[in-house]
Amino acid sequence: NVRVRFCPSPTGNPHVGLVRTALFNWAFARHHGGTLVFRIEDTDAARDSEESYEQLLDAMRWLGLDWDEGPEVGGPHAPYRQSQRMDLYKDVAAKLLQAGHAYHCYCTAEELDERREAARAAGRPSGYDGTCRDLSAEQKAAYEREGREPIVRFRMPDEPITFTDLVRGELTFTPENVPDYGIVRANGAPLYTLVNPVDDALMEITHVLRGEDLLSSTPRQIALYKALAEIGVGNGTTPAFGHLPYVMGEGNKKLSKRDPQSSLNLYRERGFLREGLLNYLSLLGWSLSADKDIFTVEEMVAAFDIEDVNANPARFDLKKAEAINADHIRRLDPKAFAEACEPWLRAPHAPWAPEKFDQAAWEAIAPHAQTRLTVLSDITANVDFLFLDEPVDDEASWQKAMKEGSADLLRTARTKLAEADWNADALKAAVVSAGEEHGLKLGKAQAPVRVAVTGRTVGLPLFESLEVLGRDRTLTRVDAALA
Ligand code: GLU
Repeated sequence: NVRVRFCPSPTGNPHVGLVRTALFNWAFARHHGGTLVFRIEDTDAARDSEESYEQLLDAMRWLGLDWDEGPEVGGPHAPYRQSQRMDLYKDVAAKLLQAGHAYHCYCTAEELDERREAARAAGRPSGYDGTCRDLSAEQKAAYEREGREPIVRFRMPDEPITFTDLVRGELTFTPENVPDYGIVRANGAPLYTLVNPVDDALMEITHVLRGEDLLSSTPRQIALYKALAEIGVGNGTTPAFGHLPYVMGEGNKKLSKRDPQSSLNLYRERGFLREGLLNYLSLLGWSLSADKDIFTVEEMVAAFDIEDVNANPARFDLKKAEAINADHIRRLDPKAFAEACEPWLRAPHAPWAPEKFDQAAWEAIAPHAQTRLTVLSDITANVDFLFLDEPVDDEASWQKAMKEGSADLLRTARTKLAEADWNADALKAAVVSAGEEHGLKLGKAQAPVRVAVTGRTVGLPLFESLEVLGRDRTLTRVDAALA
């Protein structure tokens, strides 16, 4: 039975790297009919926040990445917030100390720094040198008298650690590269290095799928797992590990949390569809097939396996994300598309007063907008001509479309539009015929009409737009342009 976990720390806003990790764990769990455990790693009171916790849950819900155990749903290993499990970690730390898998280390930060520098200078490995590994009772007592407060340090085994990464294949870490490490602070606070594997053991996690940045902690965790099995914590098995590739941003640098492109909120605000964003993020290290970039999450779940993840760094490409999103917008059923846009059209900060929004006009124009958006928030600029009293005032568009002779053309078009039946075909015929009188092709003839009516040089198909706008408002705008 597959059991995976998504275990973010609630610091800052959710970012795309985090979402990719959540998505791959979720898809893996769903593909195998397994269990996704959602655990909150909030043991760092200085950095964690309740706001960030709420945002994480909200993001998961918006993305439709449901979890089987965790906050709100509970489960057999509750609580799922580490801040509520502190006693348990202290108990495990005491047992590790007692069994000799961990020891008290009295070295001060300054001493550690000094020795690290010296080791570096001498070209020796610069990790913890084992000074406190085997202190006698007298030495300990002497340190205590000095008032030193020890941390708890895990004793790494003296032989290499080898494991088969599900993405990278077999990896070996030698003892010089994996020194003894701290698991409890001097003030008694358990560290990530302890609580993360302890919970993985207790929650019977079978597969740990996480970012490559955590690869260096894996040999330590594997050693800790063995120790936990010996002291009877967890079910005695070590999970399989798979490390997802780095995501590279601009200039081939690792996409950072501080990079604006990495903020999930930004994608939501711009109107990415959940399906579009998940489709794109799944391509950061995985692909459905060489010739199919666009797919649904269901298709992803059906095909996803961790062995197919690529170890090479993935490149984040906003343009591609937008193109994929545009594709998903086009695939929406027309009614779903119209509804999906409404939060932008009815938003208090929309460019028109809320009472100016006209549902019937929106439903009439929506099908013409659906094929043109890359993100839903683009909708307002495409339909503002319908809901504003006057077209937007864009000097540049005006200059571009109103050339010599444009006024004559507009005058002719006005007469013919006024006589036409008010439907797109007839309106087009009217403008074609006005163009012919002035020796202009349709493209040239419709430009001044478009600017007069919408204020823009580009937009939705013009004659459908005029049809929806209506005869009176159209003619009034043409008259205003001619005045
Ligand atoms: N809380 C850790 C983080 O957000 C989880 C690491 C892991 O997946 O093991 O980096």
